Amino acid sequence: MIVHEATAFAGGRCRSYHDATLGMTIDNGNHLLLSGNRAALAFLRDVGAAERLHGPASAEFAFADLANGQRWTLRINDGRLPWWIFDPGRRVPGTRILDYLPLAWLLWPRPGKAVAEVIACEGPLYRRLVEPLLLAALNVDPPRGAARLARAVIRETLAAGGRACRPLVARDGLGPALIEPALRCLQGRGATVRLEHQLRAMRFAERRIEALDFGTETVMLTPGDDVVLAVPPYAAAALVPGLEVPNEFRAIVNAHFRIAPPEGQPPILCVLSGAVQWLFAFPDRLSVTISAGDRYIDTARDMLAKSIWSEVSSLTGLPAALPPWQIVRERRATIAATPAQDARRPGPETQWRNLALAGDWTNTGLPATIEGAIRSGKRAAGLVKRSAEARRS
Ligand SMILES: Cc1cc2nc3c(=O)[nH]c(=O)nc-3n(C[C@H](O)[C@H](O)[C@H](O)COP(=O)(O)OP(=O)(O)OC[C@H]3O[C@@H](n4cnc5c(N)ncnc54)[C@H](O)[C@@H]3O)c2cc1C
Repeated sequence: MIVHEATAFAGGRCRSYHDATLGMTIDNGNHLLLSGNRAALAFLRDVGAAERLHGPASAEFAFADLANGQRWTLRINDGRLPWWIFDPGRRVPGTRILDYLPLAWLLWPRPGKAVAEVIACEGPLYRRLVEPLLLAALNVDPPRGAARLARAVIRETLAAGGRACRPLVARDGLGPALIEPALRCLQGRGATVRLEHQLRAMRFAERRIEALDFGTETVMLTPGDDVVLAVPPYAAAALVPGLEVPNEFRAIVNAHFRIAPPEGQPPILCVLSGAVQWLFAFPDRLSVTISAGDRYIDTARDMLAKSIWSEVSSLTGLPAALPPWQIVRERRATIAATPAQDARRPGPETQWRNLALAGDWTNTGLPATIEGAIRSGKRAAGLVKRSAEARRS
């Protein structure tokens, strides 16, 4: 097996890099997984990195509201029966049991509908739980999000019980947790990884790919060779004629501050009523994530760092003076998870027998996440394996 990667590093949108400004290795963006991300956890086990994600023993989420200084912890019980909803000490403050009923409406299949067409996007439960959850998972303004994808998120998290909702982070970085173990595993299985080896074009025969064109080199494919094209949608559309792909994206903004978190700072804090949405505490830095952050793409970097830090300082009690910072803005962090864009996601099959598609943007039934990317990769691998078996028989 050969992996051809266009850039000089593996990991794509999920990577660690050495940041010269901060003088430390950081991730391009904080990535949150949940214990119910079964494909991602199986992947970690497969590559021998099961212990590289860290999180609490139960599904607990610390919240802070910048508007009124209120703090609380959401505690979802382990089992599927949601008795946390019946316990005012565990559920979202200011909510009543009946407020949770609309979550059940979201679990009903609603093809082609937006979230706002299914539930009322208002009230304390929406503002304090549904909105931050869907914003993080879908990376789109939740009312405009595809109800089908919101349903998948709720079904695989809240409806599956606390055992599926434990937050997991790569405390020592995405590189050591996900990417380096995967590269070692590939190497151990005899695969070759070719970096800075961008696929420029494919040569198509009647029902198969005949050759891969890397510019300075053309690789002819033998009848036993298969291709899994796992590039972003815009790259796939440029390589595969007639392929319809999602063409609207949303940004994610991350702000990293080189400063030790104060004593007792929760590892993950969900923040309401500010620009900051999630505050991650690492041993040597604080790191902020802003999903659907397109409105901050053109803000001057130093202004953005200052305004984000003023919120972080008020959340943590740390001094107002700006510590060393870095802003990482990923313009096309994910596809826009709207019904219209969701409808443009192709499956793994193509009209060419030895070509399968993978990537978080393909039609996985999930939003564009690590979990979706891994499921799509498994699905594409299964497809090429079956077609290879069919060719042999
Ligand atoms: C800032 C940020 C925060 C995120 N937060 C989370 C989170 O909290 N939880 C979560 O689950 N997900 C999160 N995501 C999404 C997650 O990173 C992606 O879903 C996942 O990385 C997608 O993986 P992929 O393999 O589908 O695509 P990519 O990671 O985009 O990989 C595609 C690869 O193809 C390469 N390539 C492109 N063109 C060519 C070519 N012509 N030839 C060869 N190679 C090519 C690219 O260089 C890249 O390495 C986040 C993403 C970002 C950007």
